[in-house]
Amino acid sequence: MAHLTFHPFICRTDNYGLLIHDPESGATAAVDAPDAGEIERQLMRHGWQLTDVFTTHRHGDHVEGNAALQQRFGCRIIGPAAEADSIPGIDAKVRGGDSFSFAGREVRVLDCPGHTRGHIAFHMPQEEAVFAGDTLFSLGCGRVFEGSMEEMYRSVSQFKSLPPSTMLYCGHEYTQSNARFALSVEPGNAALQGRAAEVDRLRAKGALTCPSTIGEELRTNPFLRTGSPEIRAALGLEDAEDAAVFAELRRRKDGFK
Ligand code: ZN
Ligand code: FE
Repeated sequence: MAHLTFHPFICRTDNYGLLIHDPESGATAAVDAPDAGEIERQLMRHGWQLTDVFTTHRHGDHVEGNAALQQRFGCRIIGPAAEADSIPGIDAKVRGGDSFSFAGREVRVLDCPGHTRGHIAFHMPQEEAVFAGDTLFSLGCGRVFEGSMEEMYRSVSQFKSLPPSTMLYCGHEYTQSNARFALSVEPGNAALQGRAAEVDRLRAKGALTCPSTIGEELRTNPFLRTGSPEIRAALGLEDAEDAAVFAELRRRKDGFK
């Protein structure tokens, strides 16, 4: 089986659109639908027909294109059962532990409450790719709007057990500002210094910083590194539980300029 083609692009201001295309069957999925017009332009550029939308959560900048895309392509919309009432056009309601098939590959659903109550992520083990929405970003994580810090800690921590080679596709291009915060709490992390420099280079030429990999995030993303002695010392939480370190990181990031 040939590999699927992944085509990420930025739309709106800093949202990621992502198209996943199977050259054999022609099946094409969009991960979230931030902007129907831009998704359609990207499809047309490649000569692809949209068959599926994978919705991560109900926020407008992730579902606004659902209705228009469904009307135009008759695509199947798969989204979180726990907030199905707020997902326009939803056809298949899924929750953590479910799996479904796209282009003959398994797609596993992860429950990720915290950013929104029903937020889910999608993992394609055979393709070594995960679509994290607004739960995990490169060098950061989503804001906690609807769940507890403890829930968000557990949601984010699930990604640590995926194979390190897994490609991480996320919902926003926030990597450059995330890097500034990450360096403020772990300035001595050489891998992070290198990643921050790479991100500056990429953004300077208008290139995308995603996907990264789970392995890269484990080395550099403070929200996955709550055991780091340097981070713990920076927060004055040397002996705290990991979840407490996570919560303090998230609170500080909320107020970080
Ligand atoms: Zn969101
Ligand atoms: Fe968002």
